[in-house]
Amino acid sequence: MNINILTIFPEIFNVLESGVVSKPIKNKLLSIQALDIRKNSVNKHNHIDSKPYGGGEGMVMMAEPIVKTLKEVDKKKRGRVIFMSPQGKRLNQQKIISLSKLKNITLICGRYEGIDQRIIDKYVDEEISIGDFILSGGEYAAICLVDAISRYLPGTLGNKNSYLNDTFSNGLLKGDVFTKPEIFESMKVPDVLLSGNHKKIETWRSEISFIRTLMKRPDLLDGLKLTKKQKKLLEEWRSKAIL
Ligand code: SAH
Repeated sequence: MNINILTIFPEIFNVLESGVVSKPIKNKLLSIQALDIRKNSVNKHNHIDSKPYGGGEGMVMMAEPIVKTLKEVDKKKRGRVIFMSPQGKRLNQQKIISLSKLKNITLICGRYEGIDQRIIDKYVDEEISIGDFILSGGEYAAICLVDAISRYLPGTLGNKNSYLNDTFSNGLLKGDVFTKPEIFESMKVPDVLLSGNHKKIETWRSEISFIRTLMKRPDLLDGLKLTKKQKKLLEEWRSKAIL
């Protein structure tokens, strides 16, 4: 997969050299080009932004430097052009899975008050937001996107089940996990996890996954078709008046 990133801070993307994202890069399954928009500034003062027409606060990134930078990427290697924007569709795991199947994508990172609307109208295929809050730059949103995508590239995670069982992958939260020691500050790991009985462990895990979703993110259950067992659990919990 090839990801082109248009930014005025290419060095921010050096963080992708740490952690699991670096694996597909080293294995040549993922290549990331951070292209510096400032190199295409319109004058010798390195300007890439200007005051908004009509007045108002802040500065707006100008169209020309961004388009020139976009054109540095061969049209075939551009793929889907995405503008990281709080006004875009909110990112979720399903979207990450579908993006991870693409060969090329190009991410545009805004700064200041954003980018000139004409770039969005003419060159952008879609706008993606990472949540209903405002960042100072699209770079941080792009890093989240690249990190999440890279987990789906072959060989990134040691165990394929890691992402198959992840929170959101089957519509639920993953649930509780524990590691050594068995007792920590008088708190004991649930007996079932030490039992060695895989069937019981599996049942416990699917129950705790369902119950945690019910407790923390009941909204996730809205569109979900519940199994008989989940319906029973729901009734049990409701009757205990915990929820
Ligand atoms: N004034 C703009 C926000 C600009 S924030 C407005 O009110 O809509 C500066 C840049 O940060 C944006 O252009 C965008 O690229 C990025 N950004 C901010 N919040 C974001 C979010 N939630 N998701 C994705 N990108 C975001």
